Amino acid sequence: MPEQPVRRDRPERLAYLDHAATTPLRPAARDALLPWFGERFGNPSGDHRVARAARQAVDEARDVVADVVGCRPGDVVFTSGGTEADNMAVRGVHAARPGTVLCSAIEHDAVRNPVGFVGGTTVAVDTRGVLDLDALGDALTPDVTLLALMAANNEIGVVQPVAEAAELVRRRAPGAVVHTDAVQAASWLDLRATIAGADLVAVSSHKVGGPMGVGALIARPGTPIRPLLLGGGQERELRSGTHNVAGIVGMAAAFQAAAAERETTAARVGDLRDRLAEGLLAAIPGAVRTGGGEGTPRLPGTLHLCIPGIESEALLFLVDEAGVCASTASACASGAHQASHVLAAMGIGPELGAGALRLSLGWTSTDADVDHALRVIPAAVAHLRGAQDRRPEPEAPRAGNKMVSLSAAQPPTISNRDPSAEAPRP
Ligand code: PLP
Repeated sequence: MPEQPVRRDRPERLAYLDHAATTPLRPAARDALLPWFGERFGNPSGDHRVARAARQAVDEARDVVADVVGCRPGDVVFTSGGTEADNMAVRGVHAARPGTVLCSAIEHDAVRNPVGFVGGTTVAVDTRGVLDLDALGDALTPDVTLLALMAANNEIGVVQPVAEAAELVRRRAPGAVVHTDAVQAASWLDLRATIAGADLVAVSSHKVGGPMGVGALIARPGTPIRPLLLGGGQERELRSGTHNVAGIVGMAAAFQAAAAERETTAARVGDLRDRLAEGLLAAIPGAVRTGGGEGTPRLPGTLHLCIPGIESEALLFLVDEAGVCASTASACASGAHQASHVLAAMGIGPELGAGALRLSLGWTSTDADVDHALRVIPAAVAHLRGAQDRRPEPEAPRAGNKMVSLSAAQPPTISNRDPSAEAPRP
């Protein structure tokens, strides 16, 4: 009789392990933005004292973000989030300089879909989930105008070789723009070093403890780019629209707080994540840690597993019932989960990929969260496998408790797809 893992009533404990989807608001961000929903207001584009005060708040926020990212304040273009920043980078550069657009095969849909929209193609990653620099070298013909390579992947957390790729671009396709999506990296990595060599950088507030619906594109001087939104000419004519002042000041406060504690939080959360990984791999027969490996850096907060013999959606349901918030990283607003293009690009087949589980820790994560997850998740897997064994289907394959050797990555091609047919992947 399999162990009964979960309580069906309201869980006493909640372990929020979905920081890659969004993070709790940092107190510093809340304190900074709340006055802008009360006594403070004003349109920063106006010409009177109330407007000037709002403009000053936006300018101070710009200084803070620039300092954290390591750019000039004038390079910061505030947007409605990471998605808009990525769209602006890809479509804006393509509009200014039409040509061949490349992106890695594991980009977030906020990059992949605009790259598909402008007729671009993907560059393969290897079985660790790292961009294949040889494949990039082959793809870099002189007509390439843009390479988009994320700083770290949102599903598996693997850090990408942005500086090396940028160097290759400079040699093989001089004049091409390098865009990096640093949305997931921003909480964990020193952005100044991470984005070295990139001309454009996308960041998002709500992945760093700031409010949702605000982000920025960092655009280095001289980068050929056209605006997506036309209107009043705010943000150096690059992004028209009245500023989201509350969001912008909240984002800046979150970036400042995250940067100030980045090293200590990364070390603390990295230890928690490692304990969680070891505990789960020991307790779940056949579980495979996805991506990375010896000498391949991962974000400290991310743990991705493939668990044979179960379906992710069923596991997520069970663990949610028991108070563990996790993700397959291919969540869908419509409820229909799609196979992950990231796992496919790494050569992970649908059988193993069907049991994908992403656990992402962050600034609020504690030992108690890990303890709770270690109690709940293995028991839920055992329960599901027990249910599976009682069915007449053949037993699912087991892969061993370590990195498995996977077949060579096959980069999927992307086209002008109907975005409504795709699942958003946070
Ligand atoms: N890029 C990556 C890597 C992400 O993980 C996400 C969100 O999950 C985005 C872009 C989109 O950012 P936003 O939610 O701010 O639109």
